[in-house]
Amino acid sequence: MLVTQSIIKTTSQSPLNQTIQYLKGVGPKRGEILERLGIRTIRDVLYYFPRDYKDHTKIQKISKAKIGAKITIQGKVLGVHARISRNRKHIVEVFVGDGTGTIAATWFNQPFLTDKFHIEDTVFLHGKVGAYKYLQLLSPEYEIVQNEDISEKEGSIIPIYPLTEHMSQTHFRKIVEEAVRHFTGHVEEIVPKELMKKNRLIPIQDALRDIHFPKTFEHLKHAKSKLIYDELFILEIAMALRRWSIKEETGISFKAGPNVDTHIRNLIPFTLTNAQERVIHEIKNDMRSSKPMNRLLQGDVGSGKTVVAIYAILIAIANGYQAAFMAPTEILAEQHFHTLKKYLMCSHVRIRLLTGESHARYKKSDLEQVKTGQVDLVIGTHALIEETVQFRKLGLVVIDEQHKFGVVQRLKLKEKGSCPDVLIMTATPIPRTLSLTLFGDLDISILDEIPPGRSPIKTLWIPNGKEKNAYDLIRSEVAKGRQVFVVYPLVEESEVLHLKAAVTEAKRLQHDIFPNLRIGLLHGQMKSGEKDKIMTDFKEKRYDILVSTIIIEVGIDIPNATIMVIEHAERFGLAQLHQLRGRIGRGNDQSYCLLFGYPKTPISHERLKIMTKTCDGFKIAEMDFRLRGPGEFFGTRQHGLPELRISDLIRDFPILVQARKDAFEIISKDPHLASETHQKMRQKVLETFRNRLELIHIG
Ligand code: ADP
Ligand code: MG
Repeated sequence: MLVTQSIIKTTSQSPLNQTIQYLKGVGPKRGEILERLGIRTIRDVLYYFPRDYKDHTKIQKISKAKIGAKITIQGKVLGVHARISRNRKHIVEVFVGDGTGTIAATWFNQPFLTDKFHIEDTVFLHGKVGAYKYLQLLSPEYEIVQNEDISEKEGSIIPIYPLTEHMSQTHFRKIVEEAVRHFTGHVEEIVPKELMKKNRLIPIQDALRDIHFPKTFEHLKHAKSKLIYDELFILEIAMALRRWSIKEETGISFKAGPNVDTHIRNLIPFTLTNAQERVIHEIKNDMRSSKPMNRLLQGDVGSGKTVVAIYAILIAIANGYQAAFMAPTEILAEQHFHTLKKYLMCSHVRIRLLTGESHARYKKSDLEQVKTGQVDLVIGTHALIEETVQFRKLGLVVIDEQHKFGVVQRLKLKEKGSCPDVLIMTATPIPRTLSLTLFGDLDISILDEIPPGRSPIKTLWIPNGKEKNAYDLIRSEVAKGRQVFVVYPLVEESEVLHLKAAVTEAKRLQHDIFPNLRIGLLHGQMKSGEKDKIMTDFKEKRYDILVSTIIIEVGIDIPNATIMVIEHAERFGLAQLHQLRGRIGRGNDQSYCLLFGYPKTPISHERLKIMTKTCDGFKIAEMDFRLRGPGEFFGTRQHGLPELRISDLIRDFPILVQARKDAFEIISKDPHLASETHQKMRQKVLETFRNRLELIHIG
């Protein structure tokens, strides 16, 4: 405790933590604007990095301009003209001279530009040289500068910041300049000397100066490397600490001998795949050990994660502990409940469902039974993390579809026991880049084998005008007794519109396309009782077609459904499409996924193509990640970690691996960061991750 306080004291005393109003040129009003950008302290200014740079090192003379070449020029505005062309385009021409010649910057249909340029203004223009009656730059990038700036601009690289309209680049640059000039000296190095040397990193003070005002692109490169390394290094130090703190805790040593094993296997109606055997072995080892398990089980949809979970659950229960199984949606929790009940029919396991809705209804008796230990296994949604839910002896926590829950929720459930084992399951194949960071504190098991007897799903892209073929296929499959999902994944529109789309579509399909088929509708705004009924009806074949919003995304298991139509497929992430597609192909019959999509760009075209070519979730995830970046799905923020400011997990993967190695080495030697040389680092980790990760043993 004392230690923490002394840290807070020293950090708040650092001049870097003074408010930006200490900087020249920042008053209350500007302060407010900056605050909206997340900039409160001088440190924030220093760490507010440019999003781009303008290269003014290569300013050319107008007289040397060659037609067709891209050039940057600096000159004075000689005249501003606006006119309407013969084909009625609004044209703005700004004539600029630099003493060696004159060139016209020309913009179409941006009449407001007339007011931006004034005679005698100094401007930088960057664009491609063309010729009309005179030399021209067509729609060049431009920057108008105030006179006092010019000396610094000549021959330099100019940072461009992500700003709002209320703060000009010029002004912000001045603020940064102030901060850099007077305060970089106060920034302290967190990376130990040996690592600086080994990784050829420049000092942090130089890096901060050069990231804002690099003399050359070579300087900029070194600055970036250093800052990226620092960012990833701190992240990995935090991960290493987390992992170490879990390993230091004493958990439960479950017994899992041959008796228990035989017992469990008797409840499983099929032979386990090799992958399931391997993963169960890994889990069993974890559970036997006195160190708490913290394991992520990755397995593509349909790879059979559920029985693996059941195995772990039964070990816990056989040892006299309770288990909790958390799913992201009510439907899924209910489905798991029914599935597990079926598996456990011939056992003595007492099992309860706790979801948001059932919660209120059964509250008292159920909660009481969980608390007194009359229930062995509780299945539910995030309702499980509520304070009212208490366990007598929670030994195992299983969390399905991890990406829907953040780190914090994970911890909350865990805290209901004393160091229970934790098994997290996800169907989303996580690219290695990400599993190293977001789940860096977890051990990972992979189910990379699909149970036998399934034929791969055929995926077809149905372009505009070919819908009839798709409808014919649906009719013939339904005639064979099969069932169909029609999915409307949630799009940007409001939930209400979204719902309307699904409702309208259900009506249209019923009236215009399939008058003889039975069509059901399922959407997110239904009460859980209604949803239940529709799902049950569909499962019991009282509908041929189920039109649904996104809610069937995860986990639904209806082997007789062999066709899935996905509307507006072009709008969704590949990982998401893959998840959806996993709802079919669960029986022995040929399944079809029909992507209705109208891709407008080559990339979205490419993405639909990938879906038709492969069913391999890992391949799809990597491609999606490459095409779209981590997105919010995998964003660090989503997982309760701070946003990365300068690193890019794909581009900087090699640095990430190095930083991770370095960080884990340090923590293995000094798990509490107690050594004198690690104090700055320790302080930085606490600052960055306080409240975000359990770093109890060092803070
Ligand atoms: P997911 O990994 O998507 O959660 P499930 O656990 O729901 O997959 O399993 C998908 C289907 O495969 C279920 O119907 C399950 O009964 C079946 N299954 C799982 N493992 C095997 C196996 N080893 N052999 C045959 N069928 C299996
Ligand atoms: Mg599942």
